[in-house]
Amino acid sequence: MSDLLIRNARLIDPAASLDGLHDLLIREGRIAAIEAPGTFTDLEVAEKIDATGLVLAPGLIDIHVHLREPGQTWKETIATGTRAAAAGGFTTVVAMPNTVPVNDSVPSLEWMLAPERNPAVDLLAMPAATLGSLGERLSDYEALAKAGAVGFTDDGKPVLEAPIMRAALVSAARLGLPISQHAEDTRLTGGCSMNAGPVAFRLGLRGMTVEAESSIIERDIQLLREIEATEKLRPHLHVQHVSTAKALAAIRIAKQQGLHVTCEAAPHHFTLTDAALEDYDTNAKMNPPLRAETDRLAVIEALLDGTVDCIATDHAPHAAHEKEVEFERAPNGITGLETALGLALRVLHREHGMPLARVIALMTTSPSAVINLQDRGTLAIGSRADLVLFDPAAEWRFSAAGSLSKSKNTPFDQAPMLGRVRTTICGGQAVYRL
Ligand SMILES: [Zn+2]
Repeated sequence: MSDLLIRNARLIDPAASLDGLHDLLIREGRIAAIEAPGTFTDLEVAEKIDATGLVLAPGLIDIHVHLREPGQTWKETIATGTRAAAAGGFTTVVAMPNTVPVNDSVPSLEWMLAPERNPAVDLLAMPAATLGSLGERLSDYEALAKAGAVGFTDDGKPVLEAPIMRAALVSAARLGLPISQHAEDTRLTGGCSMNAGPVAFRLGLRGMTVEAESSIIERDIQLLREIEATEKLRPHLHVQHVSTAKALAAIRIAKQQGLHVTCEAAPHHFTLTDAALEDYDTNAKMNPPLRAETDRLAVIEALLDGTVDCIATDHAPHAAHEKEVEFERAPNGITGLETALGLALRVLHREHGMPLARVIALMTTSPSAVINLQDRGTLAIGSRADLVLFDPAAEWRFSAAGSLSKSKNTPFDQAPMLGRVRTTICGGQAVYRL
């Protein structure tokens, strides 16, 4: 493995409160040294990268992606999805289990994580919380944890029944792992294809209420309280892709009360509203749906005040022929790996004044902490050389046609982005170069 010297970079490591000009040396796939610019001038290394004007940060971590393999490889594969991740600056991604078949067993988890899948970046997975994600019987958490599970989820669906969710939280707590909940009371959202509100009314579509999201979260928080009181356990609820002010208010209070609740927000929910659906654009259809402006602003406020722990993309590729159908029949989801950083910097950093280091923390140290990853999400000496080098001032437009994902379903084709990934390094190897 060849050594690599990155010179004169603005190094930002939120874990170490580091923000300044440095040279960084990579040896044997690990961060070997960080010194003042010019320290290594005479050093013989295989490659030197001049990073003048660029930010060097820990590689981004996305704890919520759909890679569609096994079973739906016309949409995406582990190989193509992780190449899109590398292009977006990500060095670790966590695959959701709603593959075909559902990833609910050790053999399927091992198959997914095998080197033969040829991932470009580090791949982790959350297997299903219940067998087949049917919400009836728990999968084997202990065996799955031993095989590398970083949490459990039925994403795409909620764990709807309270006794099952309670059992899931208890079993996962014994292993120190989170239950990652897709919070949607599906008894309230049948036949709904977007957010409830004036836009849905004008379009003649049934809308999902904010309560369909918040009521499940309130129920789960109540379960945490009850389990802590009776079981001497500290269960961890992670709420996926929170999209409403009402849900965020419930999470904020639960955190203040000391319960172990974490949550993530997706770039589309802090960038767009349901107005993006005015012309029935199925590339803006996802679940949870784009919401009202008040909800969008509430997501941003919660990102600013720390209620939201991390940014996650919910990268959800679908083929063009699947999206090019009547709005109500189109599948939910958009791609997101290559637009996350550009949107976060544009919307959160530029438009809402979030410090650059905080944006990076939301995409590195914080998601790493949510799933208890050691040894990544930081630039500490000796840690894995997972890095992203980006130009923080670059203004550019995303091109869906140029995406490395197999699918091009994004509402951000030609959308303005701030900050462009130049090089992504995973385990000391360059896995993407612009
Ligand atoms: Zn989901």
